[in-house]
Amino acid sequence: MAITQSAPSSETVEQTVEQTVEQRVASPELDAAAQVLGGRTIAVLTGAGISTDSGIPDYRGAGAPVRNPMTFQDFMSDHQYRQRYWAGSHLGWNRFDSAIPNPGHVAIAELEAAGRASGVITQNVDGLHTRAGSQRVVDLHGSMDRVRCLDCGQTFVRADIAARISASNPWLDSPDAVELSPDGDVQVTDVDDFVVPECSVCAGLLKPEIVFFGEFVPISKFTEAAAIVQRADALLIAGSSLVVNSGIRLLDKAARSKMPIVIVNRGATKGDARATVKIDDGTSETLVALAAILRG
Ligand SMILES: [Zn+2]
Repeated sequence: MAITQSAPSSETVEQTVEQTVEQRVASPELDAAAQVLGGRTIAVLTGAGISTDSGIPDYRGAGAPVRNPMTFQDFMSDHQYRQRYWAGSHLGWNRFDSAIPNPGHVAIAELEAAGRASGVITQNVDGLHTRAGSQRVVDLHGSMDRVRCLDCGQTFVRADIAARISASNPWLDSPDAVELSPDGDVQVTDVDDFVVPECSVCAGLLKPEIVFFGEFVPISKFTEAAAIVQRADALLIAGSSLVVNSGIRLLDKAARSKMPIVIVNRGATKGDARATVKIDDGTSETLVALAAILRG
């Protein structure tokens, strides 16, 4: 297995951010974004791009490996799929668990604390917004932190399940080099001996509370996300190319309400044509600079 991306040291990230914040302040796009968002309550929507500076690769970004994610139907259909999923997800969890929020996550939490943001809606399952201090977070695709029994509905803390997996699969050492994707899946090939965790209440099927490919975002979750947009009068999208349908639906909602839309993303997104301002740059440095201006 090869390392696809290693976590940058916090020192390197801080230096980069400090240098570029100075440069960004003079950027016409940043000024335009600050003008558009100034004095408004902001709903924030984030995707995988915001977590790359925390060492979690964006598999839709440039240079990302082509992969075939496991679908919900695969997971349900066969024990071998579940062995492969849980082995990979367990290794991925170890990496997620040690990832730390980057300055972009912190900038968003600060906007909320300053009363400038109505909340953050994220397509990520890494829990980094909450760890950065954001209070109102809607994780559209769920969270790696929680596990649910598909038979009796009992929920479990992921750390407890991880401890059980480690205990029953001592050979599955967490290697330093694993290929990790934003949904916490790691490619593992030899899993014949892997013992899949089962529900300690009813011995049923356990699944992390994340939305798999082939599953839909729960309606209640989308309603919560829509409420955050409803309570705002501007939408800030950061680190998402908006290929996920739920993201586009929220953008549609903001556009229908005639809200200004600011997009910060490296590379094109499906929302660019409708953006009031598009900043084609990294999220960490841009959000730090933007938050500094908006907080005055
Ligand atoms: Zn159960």
